[in-house]
Amino acid sequence: MNSGLLRVELVPIFEDNYVFVLIDEDQGQAVVVDPGDAEPVLRFLKDRNIQLSGVLLTHHHNDHVGGVKAVARSFNAPIFAPLKNKNQIPYATTYVQEGDTLNVGRFSFSVFELPGHTLGHVAYWCAEKKWLFSGDVVFGLGCGRLFEGTYDQMYGSLQRIKALPEETLIYCTHEYTEANLQFCKMLSSLDDSPITGDDEDLEMYENELTNRRGLDLPSVPLKLFIEKKVNPFLLARSVQQFAYLRDLRNKQ
Ligand SMILES: [Zn+2]
Repeated sequence: MNSGLLRVELVPIFEDNYVFVLIDEDQGQAVVVDPGDAEPVLRFLKDRNIQLSGVLLTHHHNDHVGGVKAVARSFNAPIFAPLKNKNQIPYATTYVQEGDTLNVGRFSFSVFELPGHTLGHVAYWCAEKKWLFSGDVVFGLGCGRLFEGTYDQMYGSLQRIKALPEETLIYCTHEYTEANLQFCKMLSSLDDSPITGDDEDLEMYENELTNRRGLDLPSVPLKLFIEKKVNPFLLARSVQQFAYLRDLRNKQ
């Protein structure tokens, strides 16, 4: 199957969230991930005359699910949500868990359970395109806060992301990269920091980031092979190192 006409568009909502719209040009259909707000997403679809074939939810936080009902209702589209969030997302039409495979329109996804930020958090992996829709697990140069899960769980979730193919593109929900860059610089200035990426890699990252943000372009999607070199939370070599970093970041 020629998948050249499948692409992802970002719809910014709120202060720093992105809703992802996966578009199948041939069919004029799309899959939407984490519509925290309905109006910008509905407008986006209407302006392009695109039909909705389904909505994927990564976790129950309101900035990810707030617009779901209105968006799905407009198209009578199915809503996929984590089984472990059944109580928080009772209006989903299909609940998903580790190992499930979903076919939504022409897109196919595997479900990974990635606990830590929340207990029920899932990511959707599109193997054909090497796209990961990872909600609030990993960010540019950072990772999600631990609201429900343990350090162990989050560290394990990040290891799973690290093990994906090098060319993976990570579609994370927040534009936090610039703030996280400041944390990385602080970290590399510490004498006793146990986590050290290469300063030159970080400098290159900063240059590209400054260029993109200067042109009002998103830093998302992230390139996994680059994040693996510079993201301290992916560089952590043990749960202890990860916990140290997460605690330090929380104090900022
Ligand atoms: Zn969240």
